[in-house]
Amino acid sequence: MDIFENSETLDEVGAGLQLSPNVTRLMETLGIAERLSEVMVEPPKLSLLSATDLRTLCDIPAGAFARQRWHSPYGVIHRADLQTLLADAVLKHPSCRLHLGKIVQAETEAALLNHLSKEIDGEPDLIVGADGVWSTLREFAPHSGPATFSGSIAWRGLAEPQEFAAIENPRHVNAFLAANTHLVTYPLGHHGIVNAVAVTPGNLTGHNWDNEGDVKQLQTLFAGWNEEIVSTLDRISWRFWPLYEIRNTCFVAGRKTVLIGDAAHAMTPHAAQGAAMAIEDACALAACFEMSCGKPDKALPMFNALRTPRIARVRKRGDFNKFAYHAKGPVRIVRDLVLSARNPEKLAADLDWLYSYDATDLTRL
Ligand SMILES: Cc1cc2nc3c(=O)[nH]c(=O)nc-3n(C[C@H](O)[C@H](O)[C@H](O)COP(=O)(O)OP(=O)(O)OC[C@H]3O[C@@H](n4cnc5c(N)ncnc54)[C@H](O)[C@@H]3O)c2cc1C
Repeated sequence: MDIFENSETLDEVGAGLQLSPNVTRLMETLGIAERLSEVMVEPPKLSLLSATDLRTLCDIPAGAFARQRWHSPYGVIHRADLQTLLADAVLKHPSCRLHLGKIVQAETEAALLNHLSKEIDGEPDLIVGADGVWSTLREFAPHSGPATFSGSIAWRGLAEPQEFAAIENPRHVNAFLAANTHLVTYPLGHHGIVNAVAVTPGNLTGHNWDNEGDVKQLQTLFAGWNEEIVSTLDRISWRFWPLYEIRNTCFVAGRKTVLIGDAAHAMTPHAAQGAAMAIEDACALAACFEMSCGKPDKALPMFNALRTPRIARVRKRGDFNKFAYHAKGPVRIVRDLVLSARNPEKLAADLDWLYSYDATDLTRL
């Protein structure tokens, strides 16, 4: 297997990732679960809090509870650590070759196959397009449609744990909810820092990902938030990027091209499942090929049938989270009442379909 990466070096975008049990389970299959547990933090709970009065609306237990309920851990990790683990596993595998600084792009699939044939000395059996939200391989699929701006901006800052200590426990995953905006904070393990991600309404700033953020703008967007949070904002240096999504999920993009991850179905981070879905796609694709003895004409329809409903359901959950997190007026009052009344066990049970899922299990086909 030949892997072509546009960048000269493996740099991560953004700092942190939440890894739910549906994806940590797959790390076992990939043989990196043990190393993962050395660099991943398992927060004891995920808390939803009011951004105005810091009241806890509900807690979803994680830690040992997650391992017991979903048979795999819930963790938070620095993106660089996950990337190192995955890259090491690739480099160790005798059949994998990683080519850095190589762009994979062509007008047509036939031209790409021709180009790749020269790179790898023979025509590839399959091209897997994992080229992200701005995928050019996606253009091989007629009517696939481009990525569209979601109307939201993500802001990311890194802070010392004591910056957030006054607000809530910096060892937990905290989501502070307010009208149209929310802020998520969680620890980045041995890096000794807290990752803060705010999602706010915003204007289109183009395809560029990583822009320097103006804290004054963020303070305006956080008008009415608790003073403890607002006063923390200017002690953090913020980056921001517009959130694009691909709502028209498309996996098969040509005779020999299949898309996975954001290239196939980029979603907003409201369910924290984008990277999880990319890894689920990759493992499901491998399982479909194994099941069909390496035959693309059998494996690809199987993969499409397996992944399309899963992605639709996860996307729906993300849309629901955005609606609930950003609620205002009477909807917010009802949300707070419902969340406060539900017991943590019941809230966890609502996530069983998402977290108990094994992407390599083909029996549901
Ligand atoms: C604020 C925010 C928070 C998030 N939090 C979470 C979270 O907690 N949990 C979670 O699971 N997900 C989260 N996500 C989503 C996650 O970051 C993405 O879904 C995930 O990175 C997608 O992975 P990918 O491999 O499909 O694409 P990418 O990560 O975009 O990788 C694409 C790669 O392809 C390379 N490339 C592009 N074009 C070419 C080309 N033509 N030739 C060669 N190489 C090319 C790029 O350089 C890049 O390395 C979050 C996203 C955001 C914005």
